[in-house]
Amino acid sequence: MQSYDVVIVGGGIGGLALGCRLANDKRAVLILEARPGISPSHRGLTLQPNGLEALQKLALLERTLPTGSKIHTVAWYEINGGLLASLDYSLLDHPQNYLLTVVPSELEQVLRDEFSRKNGVVHESASFEGFKLCNDHVQVKSRRYGSTAECSTKILVGADGADSRVRTALHVKTQTRECPDHFLFMLVGPVDALRQEARQYLSLGKMAGFFPVPGGTYIFYYLPRGKLNGLKAEGLDSFKNELQKIMPELAGSINNLQSWDDMTYAAPKRIKVQSWVGDRVAIIGDAAHALDPSWAQGANMTLQDAISLGDTIEGSFQSDDFSSDRPKTYENARRKQTTFIQKQADRSARLTSTESRFNSWLGKRVLRKTGTNRRLMRIALNASCGLTDHFTIGEQLRFLL
Ligand SMILES: Cc1cc2nc3c(=O)[nH]c(=O)nc-3n(C[C@H](O)[C@H](O)[C@H](O)COP(=O)(O)OP(=O)(O)OC[C@H]3O[C@@H](n4cnc5c(N)ncnc54)[C@H](O)[C@@H]3O)c2cc1C
Repeated sequence: MQSYDVVIVGGGIGGLALGCRLANDKRAVLILEARPGISPSHRGLTLQPNGLEALQKLALLERTLPTGSKIHTVAWYEINGGLLASLDYSLLDHPQNYLLTVVPSELEQVLRDEFSRKNGVVHESASFEGFKLCNDHVQVKSRRYGSTAECSTKILVGADGADSRVRTALHVKTQTRECPDHFLFMLVGPVDALRQEARQYLSLGKMAGFFPVPGGTYIFYYLPRGKLNGLKAEGLDSFKNELQKIMPELAGSINNLQSWDDMTYAAPKRIKVQSWVGDRVAIIGDAAHALDPSWAQGANMTLQDAISLGDTIEGSFQSDDFSSDRPKTYENARRKQTTFIQKQADRSARLTSTESRFNSWLGKRVLRKTGTNRRLMRIALNASCGLTDHFTIGEQLRFLL
């Protein structure tokens, strides 16, 4: 049976980033990935200062920058109305005081190349099935090309997303809830108006975002749960007209949308897990704390988890201490911030993608207030960029009063 220092289930952004972190210290790492390979995504992904900082710790920021579009300003508009707020990320006191919109498959490729360069092993089309805890190792069972395979490892990590099978095998208490805000995602042609800024538009029951990516534009369109079939019944042309009505400068850039298959539909989940670690086993990223996408923080937090857990695992190897208390260091370091961001993302979603008149009014009021007060803007961006783990009571009141 092949044996490894660490086996990671899931070769998404979190699993690959952790693989890179551990391969940096020359650990023998195997990634089991259910997909047959990396296929081009139909969507974009916003990297924020906390995720960019994690990439810098992996010495991968310079390689990632050319794959994305740097954004310093996100302008929020009311649909058929005026500017609500222009959020200026350069206000942040952080070396990466900007957003970077990438296509997720391209980020995965950067991570995958680095992992392979450092002799990390990826088994594609390999589905994790279960594990058995032994005295000084973990036995891992997977299925690949119709056959069962087994390997052994000192530590097993589940980076296998919101429906994590590693989490299930750990038998930890988990609360799962479907987020009320579903989304359609797509990549279209470039839009001149988006060279300087990204834009988000909202009104009662509607929200859409338009973010530049190299050579194109990434669009996300909010759909309340259960409304997809109704939208499709009205036809693709009607939807394209709707997008153009929201942002008239789009004209001509959405010709590549020829069918609904050119878009991705997402019904995100919010996951709360009682414990992220067990003896020789840990979970990271969406497996531990999937959240509402309104703060665009999932991948950024996964990257931070990868660095934190990587440091903890390295500590275990260096001190030859694999006791159950060790991995708690990682959970203790990450739990407060992820819980804070999950809660704030829920709140934001309630105010910006909502069918409620009161919430919609309040959301616009908070945006206007934030847009006109630089101090408040810095507080808001510091939080949404993953640079803090709390608001003081005074700060919370300032957004409302
Ligand atoms: C619509 C949408 C938009 C988003 N936009 C943003 C954004 O702008 N910014 C941001 O930071 N986040 C965003 N997110 C969230 C972000 O995509 C996720 O939080 C992030 O991808 C989580 O990374 P992960 O590595 O933890 O899990 P995943 O990306 O889900 O990766 C899990 C991997 O595990 C593999 N796997 C699953 N089960 C098994 C198994 N049994 N055996 C082997 N492999 C397995 C899967 O194939 C997958 O490759 C968005 C999410 C959605 C849904």
